[in-house]
Amino acid sequence: MKIGFIGLGNMGAPMAKNLAAAGHDVTGFDVAGTTAEGCTVAASGPEAAAGADAVITMLPNGDILRAVAAELIPAMAPGAVLIDCSTVDVESARAVADQAADAGLLFVDAPVSGGIGGAAGGTLTFMAGGSDDAFAKAVPLFDIMGQKAVHCGDAGAGQAAKICNNMILGITMIGTCEAFALADKLGLDRQKMFDVVSTSSGYSWTMNAYCPAPGVGPTSPADNDYKPGFAAELMLKDLRLSQQAAEAADAATPLGAHATAFYDAFVSGDGKGMDFSAVLPLLAKMTRKDM
Ligand code: NAD
Repeated sequence: MKIGFIGLGNMGAPMAKNLAAAGHDVTGFDVAGTTAEGCTVAASGPEAAAGADAVITMLPNGDILRAVAAELIPAMAPGAVLIDCSTVDVESARAVADQAADAGLLFVDAPVSGGIGGAAGGTLTFMAGGSDDAFAKAVPLFDIMGQKAVHCGDAGAGQAAKICNNMILGITMIGTCEAFALADKLGLDRQKMFDVVSTSSGYSWTMNAYCPAPGVGPTSPADNDYKPGFAAELMLKDLRLSQQAAEAADAATPLGAHATAFYDAFVSGDGKGMDFSAVLPLLAKMTRKDM
């Protein structure tokens, strides 16, 4: 396939590299001038998109996606597929899907989970929204860049799945850290707490796979001075998107709202530049009057 790839950042560059390594003809563009191994560099987004069978975007947010898509769509050949892998608000995904449909293009919103390691290793999970035809056209590319792709529904469903998942992630990380901080004050050994909770009804991905306590459970960012990993800033971005969607849909998400406010305060203090599990050392030094 001839592929245009727009946004060669931490995630996009290794994804584009994997597509080129699999034998596709990849032309990339990034405003910052970054490049990806094995890919031709274009002078603009529309130049990378012209004549492509598929165009993939991996951009910071919905406003940038809308602006970039408005330039790319007129340059794309009818029948081609536009695949947005960025994490953006559901409304932006749906707006771009409508514009693409008006231009006779296929569109898939396909945010990912798996982070930079998953992008480099080709082991991402894609959560996709769009028509059956659009999804079918994107699947061979998902298979190269990732290990799993779930077709979640119509346009916007991929973004919906991503923000619902990450709202659970933010809430459970805070809950897991609170429990460790309480255990400390009760004189309960952290390893014992892990041994019990990881095999009891309190188990979760944040406890079992990404334990926020250093030296406990499998190796995680906690064992590397809380260097990301999954940065607290990105957790806050996804929590904000969950609250934006909840607001638009009139959904009650009280803990999602608390988690958003919590990470908002966290990234302007101790959490700046840290992994999202660094909530534990913060809570461990707090008392009830700091709540
Ligand atoms: P990044 O900031 O490293 O990359 C984004 C790239 O887009 C940058 O290189 C930037 O120069 C480029 N860009 C911005 N405006 C542009 C434009 N108008 N035209 C062309 N290029 C433009 O971010 P990232 O970590 O690669 O994340 C990309 C997306 O993936 C985000 O939406 C993020 O939320 C999501 N995501 C990231 C992770 C992660 O662990 N980093 C995990 C899952 C999802």
